[in-house]
Amino acid sequence: MLQGMQRIKGLIALVILWSGTECLPANAAAVASSQQFYVLTSSSRLADKVVERAEEYCSRIRAEWLGGHLPATRTPTSIYVEIDPKRSFARTVIDPLGKRHMVWLVGSEEAVTDYLLHHELVHVVLGAEFGESLPVWGNEGIASRYDNQRRHDLRQTQLAQFVATDSWPDLKTLFESPVRQRWQYASAVSVSDYLIAQGGAEKFVRFLNDSSTDPAHSLNEYYAIQSFSELQTSWQQHVRESLDEKRSSEAVATLPTSASRYAR
Ligand SMILES: [Zn+2]
Repeated sequence: MLQGMQRIKGLIALVILWSGTECLPANAAAVASSQQFYVLTSSSRLADKVVERAEEYCSRIRAEWLGGHLPATRTPTSIYVEIDPKRSFARTVIDPLGKRHMVWLVGSEEAVTDYLLHHELVHVVLGAEFGESLPVWGNEGIASRYDNQRRHDLRQTQLAQFVATDSWPDLKTLFESPVRQRWQYASAVSVSDYLIAQGGAEKFVRFLNDSSTDPAHSLNEYYAIQSFSELQTSWQQHVRESLDEKRSSEAVATLPTSASRYAR
């Protein structure tokens, strides 16, 4: 999740404290760093692991979405990690003083070294490249591709509800809104996937960067989609067809079991 500045005063206060290293959180006993990252967490082993994974994920994200392009200026990203298997929390904010990114992760070790970290680092990499200019829906649409299977499944359930009730979010409104609710994430990820399937990852990022002022114009320029109405219709059809294909493939996957049962 990419947190807007207006809603993060408490978090900013926390991260400024530990970024200054004058007053670290009580459970942050170890530090590991690289050229790009400064990690605070409870053990040296975990700090090293987070730095290593962060470097790996950043390289992958840049290769996949930016053609391997490195930002002109790089300031270290601070990552604060707290292990708590009962929680799952992630935020990326921009330090208003140093203009550098700060990431706060709370969860199981698997979560904070895998999908939570990967998701937040998408925001860091895109933020380093484009500042805060990318539309939130697209930013989350890319980052959420790295979520765990449970979140993917929840979003599929949400899409199935859109189809079952024939009640759909308005994409023009989505493009202009914050992304906070599950239906907003489900829509943002789905329409992102739809456009990425048409032209690839790097083209989608270029479209996002150009679309912040006039998304309708950019839809036409990049995807030959004439209007939001056309996008709305074609995306809804894509969702219906994707769900039908998924159901068909799941039905096929169960055939051998059924066949063997009836052959007895
Ligand atoms: Zn996010």
